[in-house]
Order: sequence, then C-alpha cells, then structure tokens
Amino acid sequence: MQGVGFRPFVARLAADLGLSGSVRNDGAGVRIALAGPQAARDAFVTALRERPPPLARIEGVSRAPGPVAAAGFTIEASAPGAACTEVPPDAAVCADCAREVLDPADRRFGYPFASCTACGPRYTVLAALPFDRARTAMAAFPLCGACAAEYADPADRRCHAQTLACAACGPRLTALEMDEARALLRAGGVLAVKGLGGFQLCADATNEPAVARLRAWKRRPRRPFALMAHDIGIITRHAAVGPAARGALQSVERPIVLLPAVGEPLAPSVAPGQRRLGFMLPTTPLHLLLTEGLDRPIVATSANRSGAPIALTPDGLEADGVLDHDRPILRRADDAVVQLVGGAVQVLRRARGYAPGPLPLPPGLPRRAVLALGGHLKATVAWSRCGQVVLSPHIGDLDHPDTVAAWTETVEGLGALLGQDPEAAAVDLHPAYRSSAWGRRWAADHGRPVVEVQHHHAHIAACMAEAGVPAGQRVLGLALDGLGYGADGTLWGGELLLCTYGRAERVGGLPAVPLLGGDRAALEPWRNLYAHLRAAFSWDELGRWAVAEGLQARPVALLDPMMAGGPHAPPASSAGRLFDAVAAAVGLFPERVSYEGEAAIALEGLAEEGDLRAAPVWPVSLEVRDGRLVFGWRGLWAALLDALEDGATPAEVAAAFHRTLADALVRAATRLCRANDLRAVALSGGCWQNRTLHTLVADALQERGLIVHHHRAVPPNDGGLALGQAVVAAARLGAP
Ligand SMILES: [Zn+2]
Ligand SMILES: [Zn+2]
Repeated sequence: MQGVGFRPFVARLAADLGLSGSVRNDGAGVRIALAGPQAARDAFVTALRERPPPLARIEGVSRAPGPVAAAGFTIEASAPGAACTEVPPDAAVCADCAREVLDPADRRFGYPFASCTACGPRYTVLAALPFDRARTAMAAFPLCGACAAEYADPADRRCHAQTLACAACGPRLTALEMDEARALLRAGGVLAVKGLGGFQLCADATNEPAVARLRAWKRRPRRPFALMAHDIGIITRHAAVGPAARGALQSVERPIVLLPAVGEPLAPSVAPGQRRLGFMLPTTPLHLLLTEGLDRPIVATSANRSGAPIALTPDGLEADGVLDHDRPILRRADDAVVQLVGGAVQVLRRARGYAPGPLPLPPGLPRRAVLALGGHLKATVAWSRCGQVVLSPHIGDLDHPDTVAAWTETVEGLGALLGQDPEAAAVDLHPAYRSSAWGRRWAADHGRPVVEVQHHHAHIAACMAEAGVPAGQRVLGLALDGLGYGADGTLWGGELLLCTYGRAERVGGLPAVPLLGGDRAALEPWRNLYAHLRAAFSWDELGRWAVAEGLQARPVALLDPMMAGGPHAPPASSAGRLFDAVAAAVGLFPERVSYEGEAAIALEGLAEEGDLRAAPVWPVSLEVRDGRLVFGWRGLWAALLDALEDGATPAEVAAAFHRTLADALVRAATRLCRANDLRAVALSGGCWQNRTLHTLVADALQERGLIVHHHRAVPPNDGGLALGQAVVAAARLGAP
C-alpha cells in the first residue's frame, strides 16, 4: 500500500490506543508490530477494518505473535525494490486541501500544488518504487521548516505525505499567473494547462469562436470535448446530475462522467450532435483555482492533435497562453471517462485516477508473470504479478507514430517500475497489430514463449476476470464489437463464445457480411447498408422499397461483384457494422463518420428518444450453420424498410432495432446456455458501451434466471483486452 497515508494512519491509531510498535511496507503488504493490552490490540484491528483512510484498500488482516519493541511507535522506511509493491494512481484534490487553497486565512491560500496523504499526484510523478518523495518529481523541492514539521507530526494530516509542499518550498507557476490565466479564459482565449498527466487545452465552453478554434486546431471535427466546472451547481445547469453521477463526479478518481445534456446549451462546437456531455470537477488545486469565480464550464481536452498522445510539453500547442509550472510530469495519463449503467459507474477509458491500480486475479487461476500487449485501438498493456493484474493507463490508437512511441514508453517504463521479469508475452492473434509484433519481438529477444489470444476470447476473459469468475468455470460470452481477428483467419465482431479462461469455442453469432472497401466500411456507413441489404435481398426484392433508389445511385457495377468477397471485401461478422448499416438506413451520416462508432452512438441516442417499451420486436431467425447458431437478418431488414415506408421516425426505427437485436441475443443465449448447461453470461466488446442494448439484454437474461457478468472498472472496449490476454495466458501456461 503506497501513497495513501496508511503508515501515518497506523501510527496515529496506535498512539490513540496507547500501543507501541512499528509499521512498514514490505513486498507482500503492510507489516505492523504492536505491543500493549489485548483489548487495545483488538480495538486496533477493528478500527483498521472498519474505518481505514480514504485511499486505502484493505484486502485482509492476518495476525501472528512475534517480538515487538516495548516503547514508542516508529514508521519504518519502505524496503526498495519489493517485488509486489503497488503503483498508486493519482488522487484528485481532497475536500480539506480544497478548503485550504480557497481560504484566505490558510497558509496555502491560492497555492496550486497543495496535497496531503489523501490526495495529490502519485503515478504521474513517480520515478521509482516505493513511493517516497526522494523517488518522485518532488525530490527537487526540499521541504521548508513548516512543511517538514507537518511531515513529522503524527497528529497532522500531512504526516508522511510524500508530495506535500507550499508556496515557500514547492513547485510554482512559471508562465502565466493564475489571475492572468483566468482573465484569458474569460476573454475568449485558448489556454494550455499543465495537468497531472499531460497538457490540456481549455476554453470558455459558452464561447463558440473559442471552442471552434480549439476544434479546428485539434483536427477533430465532431468527437465531443470534455468539460470542467468549478462545482456541481454549474454542471446541473447544463446536464442532469443524479445521486450516482454526483458520487462519480466527486470520487477520488475524479473522472469525466457522461451525463444527459439538459438545460442551458453550451457552444455548439463542444459536442456536436451529442445527447450526452462529459463533465468533470477540478482534479487538482490548480484546476480548482483556475475555475474559481467562473460561473460557466470550460472545455478541458487533452492537448494533442487527433490521433496523437497527450502532450507533455507546451511546444507546438496553439494557445493564447500557458498555465505552466516546474513540477515535471514523469508519466503520461489522460483523463478517465466513465458512464453510469443501472446507477453504477462503468469505466470507458481507464486512465488518471484508476490506472495503474491493481485488479485481483480471479480465484484458482495459476499465478504466472505475464506481459500482455493489448490490442490496436484504445491500447493498454497489462502485467500479471503477485495475484494481481496491473493495467496501464489508456494510451490511444496505435496508428500515429507518436502514440506508438508513447505506448512503447509505457510498456518499458511501467514495466521497469513494477520490476517484473515476465515469463511470457500475451498478444492478439492479429498478424498486423503493432502491439502483437512488439510482443513477439520481446519474447524472441528474451527467449520467452508467446501466447496468442483471440480478440473476442480476450474480451470475454477480461469480463470474467473482473467479475471474479473462478478458474475452470464456463460461461457464455456475448462478444460484440467492431472487428477482431478470428481464430479461422476471418474477421469477427459478433460472437457467442463458450468460454473458460483457457479456451473459447465459437458456438454462435452474427452472419458474415462483406466489408465493401475493407477499412472504408468502418467510416462510410452506407457501405454496410448496401452489403447487408444485398446479402439479404435480390434487386427485384429490394425494388419494393424506396431505399433501392439510393443504393442504385452507388457504383453498383463495382459493388455487386464484391458481394462474393475478395481482397477489398472481406467477410466480417461485425456487430458494429450492423449498427452502421441501420444508422445509414435511417439517414444518419449519409457519406461518412468522423470516427469509428460515431454512427452507433448516434443510433443509440435516437433509440433513447424513441419509446422502447412501445417499440415492436422484428423477426430474426436463428439457424444452425456449420455447427453454429447464426442469426438471419432478412426478417429484420424487411420489417425495418416497411416501417420506414409506413412513415416510422428514425427514433422509432432505432428503438425497434435495439429491442430486436436484444431479443435475438437473449433467445440465442438462452438456447445455448440450456444446451450447454451454463448458468452465466458475460457481456464484453465495444458495443456494450451502448447502455440501451446492455440494459435490455441484461434484464431479460436475469429474468430467465441467468447470471450476467459485465464490466465496471475495466472498459468493455479494446482498452480491456490486455487484462483478458493476461488471464488467458495464465490459464494456458498452467500451474508454475
Ligand atoms: Zn488533500
Ligand atoms: Zn513548504
């Protein structure tokens, strides 16, 4: 346990109870030696279990007799290089520190770098473990007398706070002063801000020219921007904040929380066409002071051009000013993104605040040291060690050379921090993923085996691991996403898999439909509509519907021959492309989207507008083909096109499609569970970010008596693949 103020807490508690002894971190955990009356020692253990410090996570307490010094209580230094020491994630500014920096009477009034044992930078300032000031970016800032006294005083909440500082001794602003930065935002300027894990670009979110300029620089036409507001009161003017959302916004992880947009509108360029807005509260005293007195939200987006990783320096950023400081950022971390599903937080981008906090290995799984290299999009890496899996922060898509460099830096840098010597590499089956190539090369260089893990098996295994499914248990996995490389060398993306950690059997799923134009199909939804309709109907049949006219305006002579497959039209059983096809049918994005998944998000937004309960369920056939239970879409498409002819609105069609797909999935899952004597279903893959689909399917499966596992702390999208790969590899490697 590191950087959570646990040792000082233990010292205070022991002093309160009149106990003597010592506390130290060793590789396996925290070791506390206590001398004193039995009743006081029992009270100590009870207090430890029932009211630990806010950032501490106690997995278990075991007691054994041993020798203890009989006088005083000492906090012993951490043992360096201990193999199982955890890497603490950054913690958002706590209520006490927030109060101090806003209080004119406090000695830290207006100080942007206040922190304590309950809050402050951790991972992003960490050079080496264990987490002690000398091994962080704070080593360059020797404590002043006042701070040193706080550090040493067991009664002070900054006792043993490794990052404590004040204006006299700590980091300071090096470019704009705080009041200049505030004035710049108010005047419609774009401000670069040095955040915890990288630079952000900020602008007044009600000032359209400022936000539009920021968007143009980022070369990001439509993907929504994150917003920051000084307090929840400001957020509630623009978005609905229920109790669960409030908890998520105020949590120590302080993520961006996706909230329904209601009330006063913001600048149109903030989130074009979105029904949800991503809000966060100030993450550091610096952000708290920057937004103080500002009665409206600001855009706070990572400072990088589309596709590049978050910037660590202000060089090359187009901003009117920089809120810079002299505390180095040692490790990159983007802001995390979460949504609420059924009143609980689901992490969509695991980054600052969450990563690299450890995840427990599921019970019964062999404890092997594995380096898992993840996928290609939303790339992360994972290490399994000490009965845990450490999942790196989200890095980005491995298309941009700078993102590949940042990813490599994370693999090597976090690996060195953890001090691991992995026994094997786990990689995605895909022959062209850069991450897989890196893993194979690493394994060859180190003489270690490579475990190849099929993409959708990794998704389901990640979900099982997060749910704590014991090794050996079988579940039915519903893996729905864009694309992944299949075990048979074709592209998959809508799979029903009978899974254990070690094995996946493809027992059902979506039929394969050609991706007309290969990769272009992910960005041009009409290509998927064309392919789906031509796979289901002849031109004669299609003549019944107005949609045929639009399709025939496309280059039919080129496209129709491609329906038989070929290098530019690989067949793919992709759920994501089915969403694209339906989006195109209702007229969304007639030419192209600006990022993969944009059409599916818009379609879900439409479905939320429609009346789900009143929506019909269209016919979908289930047929056994090559031993697999495969969906037939002909009935769905005929009903959908009929509905459009009858004047159904896009929202009504979107709602009916969601109900229909959910119904088909539930019927297939129920049948496969019965046939294979399974009790549990796991939902994973990027399509499960769709809350409407998630809720419909999870509720119906539970009504049928099945257990439903789904993602919470780990993203359902490719950001969770590395966790799945790590546990699959452990299962395949077997007991050491
Ligand atoms: Zn604090
Ligand atoms: Zn000081």
